[in-house]
Amino acid sequence: MNVLPTTTPGAEAITAPIPSLAAERTIRSTVRHDGICVLTFDRPGSSANIFDLRTLDELARELESVALQTEINGLIFISAKRSVFIAGADLNAMRQVASSAEARVLIERGQAVMNQIAALKIPTVAAVHGAAVGGGYELCLACDYRIVSPDHATKIGLPETKIGLLPGWGGSTRLPRLIGLPKALDIILAGKTVAAKHALKLGMVDEVAPAEYLVTAAVRKINSGKPIYPDHWLTNNRLVASVIAPRVRKILLKKTRGHYPAVLKALEVVARGISQSVEASLALERNGIIELMQTDVCRNLINVFFLQERARKRTVPTAVPATESKPIAHTSVIGAGVMGAGIAQWISARKLPVILRDINTEQVAKGMATIAKLYRDGAKRRIFTAHEACAGMDRVHPAPAEVPLHHTDIVIEAAVENLELKKKIFQRLDELVSPDAILATNTSALPISEMAASTRHPERVVGLHFFNPVHRMQLVEVIAARQTAPETIQRALKFAQQIGKLPVVVKDSPGFLVNRILMPYLIEAGNLFEAGASVENLDEVMLDFGMPMGPMRLLDEVGLDVSLHVAATLAAHFGNRMKVPECLSQMTRDGLLGRKNGSGYYVHEKGQEARPNPQRSAYVQNQKAREMTREELQERMVFLMVNEAARCLEEEIVTDPADVDFAMIMGTGFAPFRGGPLRYTDTVGAARLVGAMNHLVASGTAHFEPCKLLAGMAASGEKFYPKN
Ligand code: NAD
Repeated sequence: MNVLPTTTPGAEAITAPIPSLAAERTIRSTVRHDGICVLTFDRPGSSANIFDLRTLDELARELESVALQTEINGLIFISAKRSVFIAGADLNAMRQVASSAEARVLIERGQAVMNQIAALKIPTVAAVHGAAVGGGYELCLACDYRIVSPDHATKIGLPETKIGLLPGWGGSTRLPRLIGLPKALDIILAGKTVAAKHALKLGMVDEVAPAEYLVTAAVRKINSGKPIYPDHWLTNNRLVASVIAPRVRKILLKKTRGHYPAVLKALEVVARGISQSVEASLALERNGIIELMQTDVCRNLINVFFLQERARKRTVPTAVPATESKPIAHTSVIGAGVMGAGIAQWISARKLPVILRDINTEQVAKGMATIAKLYRDGAKRRIFTAHEACAGMDRVHPAPAEVPLHHTDIVIEAAVENLELKKKIFQRLDELVSPDAILATNTSALPISEMAASTRHPERVVGLHFFNPVHRMQLVEVIAARQTAPETIQRALKFAQQIGKLPVVVKDSPGFLVNRILMPYLIEAGNLFEAGASVENLDEVMLDFGMPMGPMRLLDEVGLDVSLHVAATLAAHFGNRMKVPECLSQMTRDGLLGRKNGSGYYVHEKGQEARPNPQRSAYVQNQKAREMTREELQERMVFLMVNEAARCLEEEIVTDPADVDFAMIMGTGFAPFRGGPLRYTDTVGAARLVGAMNHLVASGTAHFEPCKLLAGMAASGEKFYPKN
């Protein structure tokens, strides 16, 4: 798609760049023999195009030049990148704006450039292959036509509300005018990006054409002149907006509990702007986004975005550079249960062959059925085509008996959680695989160093802890046992990145990072339940805090038996601090396992909302917590997470506070707008938290004792993130 038709020498001369600046430029301008100008975005030294101030200025100059040349009769925007058209505004610049004046410069500049495009007298076309999101799609919206390639890489949309912003370069104004208010609100408020065909159906684009014909299709559009779009008079008016807005606002408030101001502001801007002039609507956008850019919520959400980017590229120091380590081409998974099947499906969908081994035909068949269902559901949700789903399925090789594994580059063990069994499996794997294969375990909490010790090559044993459900959870903990060689960690890390997961490297210790921090919180929820706090209150207060699910509901989802197993492993190591509440053991013993058998703290029936389980009252021991306020309940559960998170830093399970916050947000959904447990600690202040914990200790609950690191920070006033 990047090969342009040849241009006439005369026409090229019109826009020939000044040679000394050419290397630094993002935009190449070419005028074709038929007088159509093509602006190609190709940011030097990067795989993506983004809009920073310099690129906006460059584009503004190109547009001025186009506007002055009467012989130019059409304008096409394309990208020279493989999978990105324009990925939006430079988020680094966004998060660094220190004042509303700086924010205003950035927003006004963007709006002015988009207005320049919209004001051109000649037909304009965005010919899109790859991601056109945020500012990238706002450029498309400023054009007369949008043509996109049908490729997987092509994604269209306005994800701004997901990072605490609103579309501020014309998106909140132009999208509703293009596709109508209700559909535009759906895209903007959900921060949606959609694939080409869906975008066509919604009217977000005008045509889908193969990448290599984008320019040809664009030329055809230009030759047809400026378009006339329907004005959506039925929906785009003050009356409809005044009916829709309050209803949607109510739904948003219920869903976000008021923690995400961007969606409310976006709703206000779009609903008010629709009945005003484009200029007035753009002013609303400007003021709205500038206000949002100053909020902690926005800064925290942008930060999460950068932590994800960091995880995608992360390396660890090794003697062998990452680029020279042997790539992973063949994989095996041991155990075809919930996790093994999930991992095998994920790997096969990332185009790697995988052997799936279990103890007998029945277990393997069950695993294959799980994988087939995951593919079927994925195809229904248009994540895969039917052909891709079949090809993925074909890459999974069922193994009900021992098979040669000497071609395998990595084995991931996901058999039942039993240390002795896992040690035996590792001993045998050690004999079966080639000397440079990695042996990984998906254990939730068992000591990996002990598994490593059962092999002749402990340096190649590592933890690869996937989260459930594997196809939804992006985080993978890469766990370094005492004996794991840095090269093994590096290869495991690279493998996680290769299959599109977001890894965090942690030290081997019970519960690793995420389960270790989560478990004290779940244990405390159990303690409070035993002491008479209502299950609904416990869940509600944590939903209010910003967790995606309350702790009691989470226990039911994970399974009380699984939670008990992890809790017991941690209690054995950490003692009273993580004492397992009796209700957890008793309910497991009595078969109240949670969703998996329909009965836990709630009753779960197919197709119905979970409802309170009357049996649970039998496990309440006293009424000590009955009168606690919602704030007290919330604080107790949150304090224990914060304290354990600080302990993990203290013990160097990880060394960077950002790793703790990132892992907790990605692994448990810890209120992303708060930026993670340690950033939350900085916001509230260690002194305040430690003071409150000490108060609880003094009232007889010793497990609230603040760790040394927190206590020290409270005394010194230090922060986890001293710079911001
Ligand atoms: P599961 O009970 O669903 O599946 C375990 C599978 O292992 C079964 O199919 C069983 O037949 C098989 N198995 C037992 N012995 C075997 C052997 N010798 N060789 C091959 N296969 C054998 O368990 P699961 O939930 O998938 O958990 C698997 C592992 O993943 C455990 O270590 C668990 O702690 C960990 N894990 C579980 C979750 C979760 O939420 N379920 C999350 C993260 C990690």
